[in-house]
Amino acid sequence: MYSDATIQMVRESGCLLIDGAWVESKDGATLPVINPASGAQIGQISSASAEDVDAAVQGAARVAKDEAWSRMSSERREALMHALADTVERNAGRIAEIESLDVGMPIGVAQFLVSLSVSSLRYMAGWPSKIEGRTIPVSYPFGGEHFAFTTREPIGVVGAIIPWNVPFMIAIWKLAPVLATGCTLVLKPSEEASQSVLLLGRLVKEAGIPDGVLNIVTGTGAVAGEALVRHPHVAKIGFTGSTVTGRAVARMAGETTKRVSLELGGKSAQILFASADLDTAVPEAANSAFLNTGQTCVAGSRLYIQRRIYDEVIERLTRHASNLRVGHPMDPATNLGPVISAKQKRRIEDYISSAREQGAVLHAGRSNTAEDCGFYVAPTVVEARQEMTIAREEVFGPVISAIPFDEPEQAIALANDNPYGLSAYVYTQNLSEALTTATRLQVGRVLVNGAPPPYPSIPEGGRKASGYGRDQGPESLEGYLDTKVVLVTAR
Ligand code: NAD
Repeated sequence: MYSDATIQMVRESGCLLIDGAWVESKDGATLPVINPASGAQIGQISSASAEDVDAAVQGAARVAKDEAWSRMSSERREALMHALADTVERNAGRIAEIESLDVGMPIGVAQFLVSLSVSSLRYMAGWPSKIEGRTIPVSYPFGGEHFAFTTREPIGVVGAIIPWNVPFMIAIWKLAPVLATGCTLVLKPSEEASQSVLLLGRLVKEAGIPDGVLNIVTGTGAVAGEALVRHPHVAKIGFTGSTVTGRAVARMAGETTKRVSLELGGKSAQILFASADLDTAVPEAANSAFLNTGQTCVAGSRLYIQRRIYDEVIERLTRHASNLRVGHPMDPATNLGPVISAKQKRRIEDYISSAREQGAVLHAGRSNTAEDCGFYVAPTVVEARQEMTIAREEVFGPVISAIPFDEPEQAIALANDNPYGLSAYVYTQNLSEALTTATRLQVGRVLVNGAPPPYPSIPEGGRKASGYGRDQGPESLEGYLDTKVVLVTAR
């Protein structure tokens, strides 16, 4: 199924990338690499110690201070970023295969997300020549001639901590603005899925980006993650992961007055009005909930259905879920692969059992795979009530909770009645219904009549327990730049 080169790469990947060199963890600690499609160990990664993280930050700090990098001409910087995009594009097949092996991501999804990562790099490559300050008119009441302007400067060393669900694309979302602004990066991937990020380290070298600009420390959150967050020479932490960890990261970062951006969990609502075109709305709603086996932060895992179409939607949704193919991630016909780990599979199954105990009606799709050693979960439609745990908490698996509503006001209130505020989806053919609903939802983005993939110029991020700050789009650059004012008094 997987090429020999991919298997070999995973076997040999147990090193950290520190200041341009591949090195083992100083204390020799390692963590296993598990294939979610079989449950078998297929390799190991280094588990970085606080000392390793310190070496990586020192390397990143050295380059951040080097004006050859921080003040590189925008023309050269843009060329380097395009060179990296070209290198990623040339290796797209290899990256997708690694992602599929390490995460269990269906190969078609992995290929598509790698192509989106190339687009993000190319989009960001257009920014270095356009980062500008502003001139500020100054006229004090006591007179005199003054002239003020601002410049935008890179903040220095950025620490990024990312989750396991879409490692390569999220790594690019952190790296691209670092490259565009002249910062440097110490990146800690998830201990559950580091392989595609380690491959990115090789590609960054191949593209000619200077040593020390990207450093990779694989390892645990408790050791490598905390050491990065607490390090005094790191200026910002860009964190993507769960809300519980994000809150801990923000508390720790406060001790050294670091900037923090938090891309956290979600429990995104989908509102399906009776006026919607069900032929397109039902598959879109299902796709939003089940993409990447439900392991996306923006998964539309709460589906509010207007009562007069409720039974028909449940029937269509259940049929759709039953037709989805659960199978080996490398089979191009697979819609849902395994989830990341045995622990995650148990967690999802516990949510489903507790919903059943609380009286929910379940409609499960067939799990038509012979791979019973892997961590497979069938897509599941749950007829739930708003107060049920399964309808309130992030499951991070292929589960959608359906709840009926009568009036639009009620749907908006139900959608907003959740601690998270990441994404929302509205399906209607009535323009004013779409706009009034979109305006009143407390989320970072509202998608109307479809769930298209991320787009490089569209910011991603949330509100409330889903965090603050943005990846992608010009908004993301703000987090990597300091504003300096120069005020000149004419003499
Ligand atoms: P997680 O919070 O368990 O781990 C995320 C990262 O934080 C990992 O690299 C982990 O090693 C590290 N970490 C753990 N404890 C730490 C600590 N004490 N200090 C520093 N780092 C620590 O999340 P996960 O299970 O890997 O990922 C799933 C979560 O990520 C879901 O909640 C999902 O919604 C969220 N997510 C959000 C977005 C977004 O853009 N909003 C995107 C993808 C995933």
